[in-house]
Amino acid sequence: MIRDIKKLSADILDVLVVGGGIHGATIACHAAKAGYHTAIIDKNDFCSATSANSLKILHGGLRYLQHLNIKRMRHSITARREMMQLAPHLVEPLPCLMPLYGKGLRGKKVMQGALFLNDSIGWDRNLDLPAALHIPRGHIISKQKCLEVISGLPTEELHGASVWYDVLAVNTERLVLEYILESVNHGAQAANYVEATAIEKGADDLYHVTVVDKISHQTSHIKTRFVVNASGPLFEDHLHSPRQSVSKQKWALALNIVSRKKIFADYAVALEGQSSYEDKDALLKRGKRLYFFVPWRGYTMIGTDYEAGSIHPDCLQIKSDMIHKMVAEINAIYPPARLTYEDISFYHVGLLPRHDKADESNIQLEKNSTFCEHKGSHFSRLLSVKGVKYTTAPHIANQIVGFLKKQWPVTSRGKQSEASFLNGPWPVNDTVVQAMLEEKYGRRARHILQFLHSEQDDEIWLDKDAQLLKAEVHYLISDEMAWTLSDIVFRRTGLGTAECPEWTLLVKLSEFMAQILGWDEARKEAEREEVLRRYLPLVRKEAKQNKC
Ligand SMILES: Cc1cc2nc3c(=O)[nH]c(=O)nc-3n(C[C@H](O)[C@H](O)[C@H](O)COP(=O)(O)OP(=O)(O)OC[C@H]3O[C@@H](n4cnc5c(N)ncnc54)[C@H](O)[C@@H]3O)c2cc1C
Repeated sequence: MIRDIKKLSADILDVLVVGGGIHGATIACHAAKAGYHTAIIDKNDFCSATSANSLKILHGGLRYLQHLNIKRMRHSITARREMMQLAPHLVEPLPCLMPLYGKGLRGKKVMQGALFLNDSIGWDRNLDLPAALHIPRGHIISKQKCLEVISGLPTEELHGASVWYDVLAVNTERLVLEYILESVNHGAQAANYVEATAIEKGADDLYHVTVVDKISHQTSHIKTRFVVNASGPLFEDHLHSPRQSVSKQKWALALNIVSRKKIFADYAVALEGQSSYEDKDALLKRGKRLYFFVPWRGYTMIGTDYEAGSIHPDCLQIKSDMIHKMVAEINAIYPPARLTYEDISFYHVGLLPRHDKADESNIQLEKNSTFCEHKGSHFSRLLSVKGVKYTTAPHIANQIVGFLKKQWPVTSRGKQSEASFLNGPWPVNDTVVQAMLEEKYGRRARHILQFLHSEQDDEIWLDKDAQLLKAEVHYLISDEMAWTLSDIVFRRTGLGTAECPEWTLLVKLSEFMAQILGWDEARKEAEREEVLRRYLPLVRKEAKQNKC
């Protein structure tokens, strides 16, 4: 993947996608595969905003049964399957468990019916997936088994628990990158750190999008027939026609916390929150918001909490009181967790579109991702995407490509240019290294081999404890557009996505990157500071150890 801004501004594109989150990435991939001359840009790194901050659940849509919204379930199921097919190494079936109490919606009978419907509606959920990723049918477990998983649960009227399967996207950031790399394999161009700042219609009937390269600090223009604005929470602020009145979307601040404590083994557990919650669109109302405790990489992700925040998406650092509040809520929901502020190693925060009619004390999110065309204006070939779920992004991408096909039938076919060394036997006689690379990079692991072979040094590890090879860092810089320490720590390797890495690793990695990218001392320091900033206001592991 080569970042070539000169080429980008010399070409005439069919489609320019602005925003490299999950929506932009899937749209770019589908458009390139359909044969459109496509490019995708992001003003920061790919997947550095909302898409990096999700609870990582690829939903099958069981909860949409509350709304009897079968269509939405089907969109989730087919979109999820596409993601699993593209990147089988980044996903795994996730058993979810919810205790059943009394009768009615929280009871056994209703849940048995719901599980049956869920499996029937998702009859093709495993189509063309490897057996290891097959999503089993849901079932009910006994009260005793439920208490083995969730010890200390109130037992009055407890009848057992329902178990269903969703999918965990273990590394959401690399999943977005997979879509971008796949779009490049089909002829698309991609560039991170390129910000779209304005759009105009030229005399040539093309859009001229002004972009600023945040690495060279140069401004240029990209010419394109269509623009897809997938800039997430900023989708209304950018690229709209000055003549167009845009209804101001309301946003909710969504927060997950990551705990060092493994609260429940093996299952993602769903427990009801304390305060009442009314889902205005639901036909079957539960009355409480559910919190999920998701086991992930030896940690527990817990979420999601919402506030009617007006924080700007470019500075989503939160205050400690929000985390304290959520820790208190979790302890109230499940006292045996005995969570403390010091247990929290990371948090995920992002803005999501809020339902217009719900009030601030009963925050309700919009249900469906949508896109709008700007009809009747100069900007009729500008599409804006409002994404509400990571899971359904491929469905929106399908719809957008369907729209493009009606407006501008494809003239060229997307050509696949995947390098040939991806196929054939694995030529390194080191099964540990092979397994480690395949787990992280799937079939792309083989790309790293060329760097491994050309390694001058006998020591192949940059940090063996962190399982990081020097060849990986070379590959990530040269083939995956990593420019900063944060790009590698958060979005290429996931080394820092659950907890701040050891300081010695940050130093080693920044020194190594400095040799390749020519950083001076000040830059190395700034890069490390930038990484550490992401953990504020949390207590870092090393600080915690020193205190002890
Ligand atoms: C706490 C939390 C938990 C969640 N849990 C789940 C879950 O479990 N399952 C699920 O399916 N969904 C979940 N979601 C929802 C999901 O994460 C979002 O709906 C989705 O990631 C939004 O993706 P996006 O591509 O629209 O936006 P983003 O990921 O925000 O991407 C927009 C991109 O546009 C770029 N950009 C902005 N302006 C410009 C510009 N002018 N020029 C160039 N680039 C620009 C930004 O840098 C950004 O990278 C969760 C969300 C949150 C916040």
